Amino acid sequence: MRVPATGPRLLLKRLREVMAEPIGPQERLDKIVQLIAANLVAEVCSVYALRADGVLELFATEGLNPEAVHQSSLRLGQGLVGTIAAQAKPLNLKDAQSHPAFAYLPETGEEIYSSFLGVPMLRAGRSLGVVVVQNKVNREYGEEEVEALETSAMVLSELVAAGELEALNTRGVGLDLTRPIMVEGAALSDGIGLGHVVLHEPRVVVTNLFNEDADRELERLKEALAGLRISIDHMLTRGDMADNGEHRDILEVYRMYANDRGWVRRMDEAIVNGLTAEAAVEKVQSENRTRMYGLSDPFMRERLHDFEDLARRLLRQLMGKSQGALTDGAPKDAIVVARNMGAAELLDYDRAGLRGLVLEHATATSHVVIVARALGIPVGQAAGIVSRCENGDAIIVDGTDGIVHLRPAGDVEAAYVEKVRFQARRQEQYAALRDQPSRTKDGIEIELLMNAGLSVDLPQLDLSGAHGIGLFRTELQFMIAEALPKLKEQQKFYSTVLEAAGNRPVTFRLLDVGGDKVLPYLNSVAEENPALGWRAVRFAIDRPGLMRVQLRSLLRAASGRELRLMVPMTTEVDEIDKVRAMLNKEAGLVEKFGTPPPSDILLGSMIEVPHLLWQLDELMSRVDFVSVGSNDLFQFMAASDRTNSLMADRYNPVSVPFMRALKSIVDAGKRNDTPVHLCGEIAGRPLSAMALFAIGFRSVSMPPAAIGPVKAMLTSLDLNELTRICDEALAADAGRTDLGAIISHFADANSIPY
Ligand code: PEP
Ligand code: MG
Repeated sequence: MRVPATGPRLLLKRLREVMAEPIGPQERLDKIVQLIAANLVAEVCSVYALRADGVLELFATEGLNPEAVHQSSLRLGQGLVGTIAAQAKPLNLKDAQSHPAFAYLPETGEEIYSSFLGVPMLRAGRSLGVVVVQNKVNREYGEEEVEALETSAMVLSELVAAGELEALNTRGVGLDLTRPIMVEGAALSDGIGLGHVVLHEPRVVVTNLFNEDADRELERLKEALAGLRISIDHMLTRGDMADNGEHRDILEVYRMYANDRGWVRRMDEAIVNGLTAEAAVEKVQSENRTRMYGLSDPFMRERLHDFEDLARRLLRQLMGKSQGALTDGAPKDAIVVARNMGAAELLDYDRAGLRGLVLEHATATSHVVIVARALGIPVGQAAGIVSRCENGDAIIVDGTDGIVHLRPAGDVEAAYVEKVRFQARRQEQYAALRDQPSRTKDGIEIELLMNAGLSVDLPQLDLSGAHGIGLFRTELQFMIAEALPKLKEQQKFYSTVLEAAGNRPVTFRLLDVGGDKVLPYLNSVAEENPALGWRAVRFAIDRPGLMRVQLRSLLRAASGRELRLMVPMTTEVDEIDKVRAMLNKEAGLVEKFGTPPPSDILLGSMIEVPHLLWQLDELMSRVDFVSVGSNDLFQFMAASDRTNSLMADRYNPVSVPFMRALKSIVDAGKRNDTPVHLCGEIAGRPLSAMALFAIGFRSVSMPPAAIGPVKAMLTSLDLNELTRICDEALAADAGRTDLGAIISHFADANSIPY
């Protein structure tokens, strides 16, 4: 097909020439508006750029009063231009002045123009400005003109993103792309990280906008689409997709979209008009994004994420880049920003250069957050952050107070540098506590254990002064492995852990896979509700091979010393019997083949499923100890998804009902002479830890970084007095009793740090 250079194509050709000219930014902008006006036979063409203070400033005009340039402005949402920028949607009006949003700017002399077409200059779903054409006569701009103006807007956004227009900013206020943004969200993992944004799913930045040969670009797009369709079909027909499930639904949607004629036609058109295939994908996706952002249907808005992913895949096909997280070339002070991510994906990053993590959707008990906390990485939560930042932007994550500063101003940064120094001093104070006994002011001993799961955690045993490891999450090792770890590898790893612990106890939790802990190399079944699904001990009982190898490795590694094991997600006591039978059998085999057995084998159960609360005596008669997994127990008791940020602060575990439930476990432990521990995240926060000690817990396990603050709290705590207060509160009306407030009031009155 020979494509004649007319209409939009001719305009793009000219724009390209202007972009290449060695001229200053104002002159370039002036030439661009002249070109657009001439091409669209408009009397006026104006460009407004969005400043960091939310004001749209007239940067160039052909047709309006030239004196108004850099003088005339509108606020975001004000007038037609402000409305276009705020809604990120075009406006095409025959009679602009009768539109309710019309605002009269006398200095521009625009009152004589009747028809109006304005389109947003978009980047990653955000408006960076607006470009407008106007005519005196009442005319409706046709599809081709809208298309031409949208393409021009794309070129203008590129100019803004490249920083060229910054030089024109006369008011000392930068353009919107440089605007500092502060987002408050949940505080997920303590600490402060200062660094630069690394987008977990990097946007493919299209910089080559203009095509040399439309036919070739059409062909490239066709090939890339074919490649994309094949890869989706391949994913759909892979064995692990055999079951219906959400994953499959998403892929079906992808397939439908990849075959959508309208989508392909719009991209073809953009190429015919002069864009490269990459720029055409970007342009059409930009329009999709704005169309779908405006929809109120949450399902469709959710699907936008899928479409974004599809467009990204298509761009990667075109640019020949492999898919998946790009973890290479990250800066030395990376703050990874993502909508959401699995724990294993976090572990793909080089720990040495990782300063922090910011997630849109996560809570304190999401596994990725638990892993980050174990690694001492500050984590913050910030809604909508991904589309507001660019790779390389400066960013600060304050995981202690739940604040994220994107592109922070100098004084904010200085304040944080000071805060980091202060925290380092605090860490020194905690370190000084390390070798002190963990005894309350009134002489009650509390065992402080740490949670672990990776070899990087082990040095923390000495550094934190933990009494031992109360929860060793064995699945983490499996999650970072490329393939299922073999018996010898597992044995070696468990030996290393035991050696590092020396005389200190280590409680290994049997594999807790399933739910949100997916092993990439195991065929996982797509489940409707994975947290309530085929996971942990349920999976282990049905696939005994996996558990057998793990038990054998642990028994061999603990030869001659104590072995403590616990079962995750126990729901019925019968499951303990099954594990116990398998353990006895494996112990017999290990001994038979010549390895001396452990000096003692203790089998415990986690209490994570509410069902167990009504079979505590039966459970305790079967196990050597129990450990409350308060993350899951609370999620199931409150029917509140631990990974859903909308639920993060809705229900408080430091509440009368939850503490009554936990106390019933402590009481059952006393009745049955069974040691009771707790290893959820609430043990690591001084305030909730106070509640746990008050209801009778004497052994808790937490992230290593929490041991200092919890010890600092308990050494100044009169526990008998707090117990009396909490007993009273637990007997009172649950609906009227704010247990958290009662405890914090007590702590304030007694100068207890929390
Ligand atoms: C828990 O559920 O409280 C627990 C400790 O286990 P995990 O967080 O690994 O699910
Ligand atoms: Mg759990």
